[in-house]
Amino acid sequence: MKIPFDNSYATLPPQMFTAMAPTPVAQPQIVATNDALAAALGIDTISTPEAVQIFAGNHLPDGATPLAQVYAGHQFGNWNPQLGDGRAILLGEVIGTDGTRRDIQLKGSGPTPYSRGGDGRAWLGPVMREYLVSEAMHALGVPTTRALAAVTTGENVYREEILPGAIITRTAQSHIRVGTFQFFAARGDMQALQALTEHVIARHYPDATGPADLLDAVIANYAKLIAKWMSLGFIHGVMNTDNVSIAGETIDYGPCAFIDAFHPDTVFSAIDQYGRYAYSNQPGIGAWNMAQFATALIPLMPDRDAAIDDFTAAVHRFPPLYEQAWLMSFGAKLGLDTPTDDDRQLITDLLDLMTKDGADFTNSFAALGQQNACDQFIDRDAFDKWQIRWQKRSPDAALMAATNPKIIPRNHRVEEAISAGRNGDLTRFHDLLAAVTQPYAPLTEATAAYARAPAEDEKVTRTFCGT
Ligand code: AMP
Ligand code: MG
Repeated sequence: MKIPFDNSYATLPPQMFTAMAPTPVAQPQIVATNDALAAALGIDTISTPEAVQIFAGNHLPDGATPLAQVYAGHQFGNWNPQLGDGRAILLGEVIGTDGTRRDIQLKGSGPTPYSRGGDGRAWLGPVMREYLVSEAMHALGVPTTRALAAVTTGENVYREEILPGAIITRTAQSHIRVGTFQFFAARGDMQALQALTEHVIARHYPDATGPADLLDAVIANYAKLIAKWMSLGFIHGVMNTDNVSIAGETIDYGPCAFIDAFHPDTVFSAIDQYGRYAYSNQPGIGAWNMAQFATALIPLMPDRDAAIDDFTAAVHRFPPLYEQAWLMSFGAKLGLDTPTDDDRQLITDLLDLMTKDGADFTNSFAALGQQNACDQFIDRDAFDKWQIRWQKRSPDAALMAATNPKIIPRNHRVEEAISAGRNGDLTRFHDLLAAVTQPYAPLTEATAAYARAPAEDEKVTRTFCGT
């Protein structure tokens, strides 16, 4: 396997990372490889015995400059000055056939100086979840890290029980986070903060002329990203600042899940005790995270007071940018390509009906315009009244078909694939992966079951972090 590395992070100031190789594992075996993604990255073949050793961290490919990145972050609102790749190693970067530079990172690849007592490993469950959900998100048109490969390690990991170890190889436009900026800003390390900013501008926002522009661009991307999540019923679950990609991609699929029966207060993550990262809180947290990013950029500005004013104004642009993106995303789901302010009410009223009836989020939108759409609701009269208002807006069926998925990685299906995988049966994982990566395709005999909402006894309402 040849990987056409072109590494840049490794040339940044040395305090920004620790150069080190992954820790080898006993007996790796392939769980999945993503041939289409490999081809898009200019990687020749990823189904060789050598490739397995590379994805396991046992063999370093030519041209790799492996390293663990340092960062900090606010976790559930609390400042943590020292985080970093505690169980991940960046192998290097490649420039894909689309001209975009991407990181190739192993996650679950052993301890690093940033492990903080952790074992640096992952078990198969979260690896499968990240693989399934990130590839589904990509197919759904959401900017995201992607899964290039997954392997089991042939080693156990010890959590509350003994579990099979695994490693995911993921790609990202970069793994630079809000927390990466925060780490250097908090220490007053101007050399690294400056170098990081220049690197990020050159790499992700080449039109930006400085930190103020960079802030604007990141805010715009992040507002659009969260609006997309909302329009799919996606709950990230752990929107800490160390899990906010500067490139505007969805990153870190820990306790994430998609809503089945709609309610805006939905929380899946077992550790999110107070619902900080509940569905409806995501845009507010988005603005909060951008305020932390703005704060980390302030030291770069010559006039601190003026910068505080300007950056505060920039952060205040997040809510209207988000609202606009939300309107466009949900408008499209209703078949409206130029939604108006009045359409806001139409959308909100539908979501209110769904909340009242606990209607299935994905299937309600997918059913719109069909004869049986009212079956999704208990209060059919209320829905019929809503439908009459909506029909007056002459919805575009093609736009709806392209924006309302039939299949999402439903939590009970993901859990089912994980339990089977844990017992050595990967067929459910592969069947589910095939279904969720064609979310807008007409249902077939093979995929119809994945479109079904969970029955009461199938519901999985709790998710756990990937540690
Ligand atoms: P996460 O919740 O996955 O975003 O991780 C938060 C922090 O904990 C990051 O710095 C991770 O690198 C670190 N971490 C999570 N799990 C482990 C682990 N098993 N071993 C070492 N570090 C970990
Ligand atoms: Mg993280």
